[in-house]
Amino acid sequence: MEDDREIRDMVTLMVKSMGYTVVTAVNGKDALIQLRRQPVDIVLLDLMMPEMDGFEFCQQVRAIPTLHDLHIIITSARNALEDKVRGLELGAADYLTKPFSLAELQARIKVGERIVRYQKTLQAQRTQLEHLAREDALTGLANRRRFEERAREELLREGRYQHPLSVLLADLDHFKEINDTYGHSYGDSVLKEVAHTFTRHCRSSDLCARYGGEEFAVLLPETPLPDARLVADRLCTAIRGLTFAQATTTVHVTVSLGIACFDANNPQSLEEFMEQADQALYAAKRNGRNRVEVYTRPGRSSVPPSSTTT
Ligand code: GH3
Ligand code: MG
Ligand code: MG
Ligand code: MG
Repeated sequence: MEDDREIRDMVTLMVKSMGYTVVTAVNGKDALIQLRRQPVDIVLLDLMMPEMDGFEFCQQVRAIPTLHDLHIIITSARNALEDKVRGLELGAADYLTKPFSLAELQARIKVGERIVRYQKTLQAQRTQLEHLAREDALTGLANRRRFEERAREELLREGRYQHPLSVLLADLDHFKEINDTYGHSYGDSVLKEVAHTFTRHCRSSDLCARYGGEEFAVLLPETPLPDARLVADRLCTAIRGLTFAQATTTVHVTVSLGIACFDANNPQSLEEFMEQADQALYAAKRNGRNRVEVYTRPGRSSVPPSSTTT
């Protein structure tokens, strides 16, 4: 970033000779436009420039979250201590007085490169940790935390735009017996396969989550009750049809599902919405398991019973 054309061309040559890609700007304003188009890692910043000088550029950059990690090296003919302090206080990482040698410029850029690399590694690790914090380790599905975050967003959106939103809560039937009979790690492999079945039978805009030990939840945006019931029936049938090989026998699992639909019952909170789905799930357990039940607000005419019982 340099308004003097000769200096700009010379520094460009120097930095290119070190093997870097160079983008040039003639003042701070120009630079902000260029940075929006093409992000860079290190900035060599002249202080005295027309329209927007180096100090003001530093100030502007601080207010732009995507440019927080920009490594700014001020390159200025101004050698006064107060300029150096001011530049560094405004967020620059380094200060190089013009004229400078190729060797010194290269050394300062190398330091910048090390810091930028380190920041990128940290950022990548943070992103991965954030992802892991929302994923269930055993099944790879979203965990309950992720489910609740997304469900709250969808509730707000669907509530505002009056679109339907459904949720399924599923609990494997007599799963304790599977663990007790074949062992916990066998139970785990069953859970993984069940999780896979959930994802296979849902759309990419739906969210399947492991809600608890052997409980799963599915968020179905833009889905009215009849469609949610189709999905639930499909899941119930698919899980019933899974076969798990075991030394001498074949193991089967079944699932009970409860459905709550936002447009039908208007819950006031996610907690209430999930409570409705849970009540429907309990009804499915009570009515014999391996089936789907729908939550209906007490006093409302009940929805015809599900047809998934075998
Ligand atoms: P119900 O039909 O009433 O739901 O019977 P259930 O046996 O499934 O219900 P219960 O809540 O009594 O037991 C749930 C079982 O799920 C007990 C627990 O050992 C098992 N479970 C929970 N989390 C895991 C897990 O991560 N791995 C394995 N293998 N089993 C789990
Ligand atoms: Mg200048
Ligand atoms: Mg359970
Ligand atoms: Mg269970």
